[in-house]
Amino acid sequence: MDHFLYRDGILHAEDVPLSQIAAAVGTPFYCYSTATFTRHFRLFDEALEGMPHLVCYAMKANSNQAILTLMANLGAGVDVVSGGEYARARAAGFEGDKIVFSGVGKTRDEMRTALAGGIRQFNLESEPEMRVLDQVARAMGVVAPVTVRVNPDVDAKTHEKIATGKSENKFGIPIAKAREVYAEIATLEGLRVVGIDVHIGSQLTDLEPYRLAYRKVAELTDVLRADGHAIERLDLGGGLGIPYERSNDAPPLPVEYGAMVREELGHLNAEIEIEPGRLIAGNSGVLVTEVIYLKEGEGRDFLIVDAAMNDLIRPSMYAAHHDIVSVVEPAAGADPATYDVVGPVCESGDTFAKQRVMAQSGPGDLIAFRSAGAYGAVMASEYNSRPLVPEVLVSGDQFAVIRPRPSFDEMINRDRVPEWL
Ligand SMILES: *Cc1c(COP(=O)(O)O)cnc(C)c1O
Repeated sequence: MDHFLYRDGILHAEDVPLSQIAAAVGTPFYCYSTATFTRHFRLFDEALEGMPHLVCYAMKANSNQAILTLMANLGAGVDVVSGGEYARARAAGFEGDKIVFSGVGKTRDEMRTALAGGIRQFNLESEPEMRVLDQVARAMGVVAPVTVRVNPDVDAKTHEKIATGKSENKFGIPIAKAREVYAEIATLEGLRVVGIDVHIGSQLTDLEPYRLAYRKVAELTDVLRADGHAIERLDLGGGLGIPYERSNDAPPLPVEYGAMVREELGHLNAEIEIEPGRLIAGNSGVLVTEVIYLKEGEGRDFLIVDAAMNDLIRPSMYAAHHDIVSVVEPAAGADPATYDVVGPVCESGDTFAKQRVMAQSGPGDLIAFRSAGAYGAVMASEYNSRPLVPEVLVSGDQFAVIRPRPSFDEMINRDRVPEWL
């Protein structure tokens, strides 16, 4: 459930008509709902009730400082995958002991920053990384808390670009090798084992791959504990899918996921960490755009809008579906139309939807791409010198611009022309 609903014939974000925001900030823009973000975080928090746990919001889904501040205020932890994300987390008020550092390519600088600023744990992804972190920590005279991300070799049954739990993926170490790696960590003075980590992919729409992976983690927990390692935490990653296509999709709910976690891992008395990103942010946001032209082609009609692939890349990168709705509610019984919905960028890949059956629309109409709160603004670029789209946060009847649209001058003046030109 989210808080983007028609009211008096206009699509609202909570109590604010999207047309009112469009008039104030121009199009295109991202609009997020505070109540929806809050609700999604609480669903996870409640799903794990009764087990010691921390919900670590995976900020790569949406890392605006206002969203991070909201999450920190709710008591969330946070999962970061770069030095920049670590800096954002600290700036938003997350204490070090709420920050989990994931990612296959952590640099020495990033390690030093996190060790100096405070860190809950590093999720190690390889043996070379393990040895480097040990060196960095010892040089600083500290001990780094670590888990090892194990690759359970299960098929997450999701899009290949976001599946991470098969042995052919670059992530984690093979679970069969885990015992050996933990044994080496026990000999390294700069590292201290705190648990095990696993993350098998994103936009999972079935609990079975999780169940298979978590069973392997439970077995490994017993083995590693018997070997004398302190497996106090189980980081289960993120990845629970959302219904991008509302008429078709019904992915598992957080409460069902939580029940499965309890079944598979509850008996281990470990602290459960989860790292949801998409499910917290995805349906908490929309991208609102204005139709520029209706181009009637041979056999197909193109709706050309003022948003493009540089603003929301998921359709061209992952062939992702986003529901498209008009901001003005179509009259009951109105005939729909079929369009290819495209942006102005000079690439055929700049297509949001092909042969989409949707409300009849024309120049000047506002339409909204739903489920755009995750992996939307964060993946945007200024390709075609299109300034980054602004982000707006709504709460009840108020809204605020949480990242303004840069002017052309601001965009241009980030470049430097050398004197000798
Ligand atoms: C991307 C990622 C997540 C979040 O995945 P979602 O599908 O957005 O929930 C969590 N943990 C790790 C390690 C990730 O790389």
